[in-house]
Amino acid sequence: MEKIITIKYGELSTKKDNRNFFIKILNNNIAKVLGDKALVTYDFGRMFIKVNDNYFDEVINKLQKVFGIHEIVVAYKLSNKDLDSIKNNLLELLNDKEFKTFKVEVKRSDKNYPLNSVELSKELGSFILKSIPNLKVDVHNPEMLINVEVRLNEILIYFNGLKGLGGYPVSSLGKGILMLSGGIDSPVAGYLAIKRGMKLEAIYFESPPHTSEAALDKVKKLAQKLAVYNNDIKLHIINFTEIQEAIYKNIPKEYLITIMRRMMYRISAIVASRINAKVIVNGESIGQVASQTLTSMSVINEVVSIPVIRPVACFDKLEIIDIAKKIDTFETSILPYEDCCTIFVPEHPVINPDKTKAREYEKLINFEEMIYKAVKERKVITISQNDELEYQDLL
Ligand code: ATP
Ligand code: MG
Repeated sequence: MEKIITIKYGELSTKKDNRNFFIKILNNNIAKVLGDKALVTYDFGRMFIKVNDNYFDEVINKLQKVFGIHEIVVAYKLSNKDLDSIKNNLLELLNDKEFKTFKVEVKRSDKNYPLNSVELSKELGSFILKSIPNLKVDVHNPEMLINVEVRLNEILIYFNGLKGLGGYPVSSLGKGILMLSGGIDSPVAGYLAIKRGMKLEAIYFESPPHTSEAALDKVKKLAQKLAVYNNDIKLHIINFTEIQEAIYKNIPKEYLITIMRRMMYRISAIVASRINAKVIVNGESIGQVASQTLTSMSVINEVVSIPVIRPVACFDKLEIIDIAKKIDTFETSILPYEDCCTIFVPEHPVINPDKTKAREYEKLINFEEMIYKAVKERKVITISQNDELEYQDLL
């Protein structure tokens, strides 16, 4: 009996015209994640993954972190399609399983098979009842669902599957740029954007020497956690010091944050156009801080025309934290390294900034040149999930 992993597409297979497109991308993504540990083949109903027993658990684990997979099923393949062979193998497979109720479900794509689906499921059902004591059939809510597929060249047997992450395959919907800070919100926003099929590159603003190397390492580590879902991630590191100091020197204190964020948006939009990203993604959440009131958001947003997606805009902090824990970014996010936003935070930032004032204040600094310099001199690194990153003082 050969063991083979089967992937069910769920929502993807209902995509009519685009179905093949999504499935091809999913196939590529899975092949990339698994490398030479597995052999992946597919048709438009299912994907099959052959894997050496030594890697079996590792492969299942990795598949559970791939977007676009609805269900992961471990199937057993019999090339001998005789009824007796099915019965004996089925019994062997059920041997180490604990259950009290079951149901047999048969699908038959080989229309020449001597028994039809109803006959075969009856035959197998009564055989199981006879062979294993104290079992009952429950067609509505069985503890063990026994699936038997009669295919042209083989029989597939499989049981309850593992839930996949759902969503769309990474990069099937195009590219976005994630404003990634060291906080809790932006990695979660990134994860949710990837789930909708975006491929992300990340952008981080640092202000050395006001922000430390450790703060950057923290962001790299968060990027690496996202790389698991994103198939690697590029991180654009922007030196924001000059701009931030100019803002600090020239702009009235209560508008520091507003102007600073307008600069971040402008830079993100320029980098987005260079890398062909269609949207900016960030971790803003309505009402969380002064710069995230609706008025603030609209004053900050007016400097770019590219759409800004805010996946956690309407989430409570606790809901965001739940996801951060699930994707294992929380512990890193709460490490205490200062962010370029926090070091210059005034005591009383304006809650309802005024667009005209923001525009006037900006005229006090010659920001165009500084912005282009920051973009031009940015550092870009690629982080993959298996990289051994060296962290300064982390943990
Ligand atoms: P987070 O928890 O993600 O840091 P926050 O609640 O601290 O968010 P802000 O500091 O106002 O909120 O930042 C809002 C969003 O702006 C962040 O979620 C992130 O997307 C982006 N951002 C803030 N600081 C930076 C930075 N230094 N580099 C890149 N993006 C940033
Ligand atoms: Mg922050």
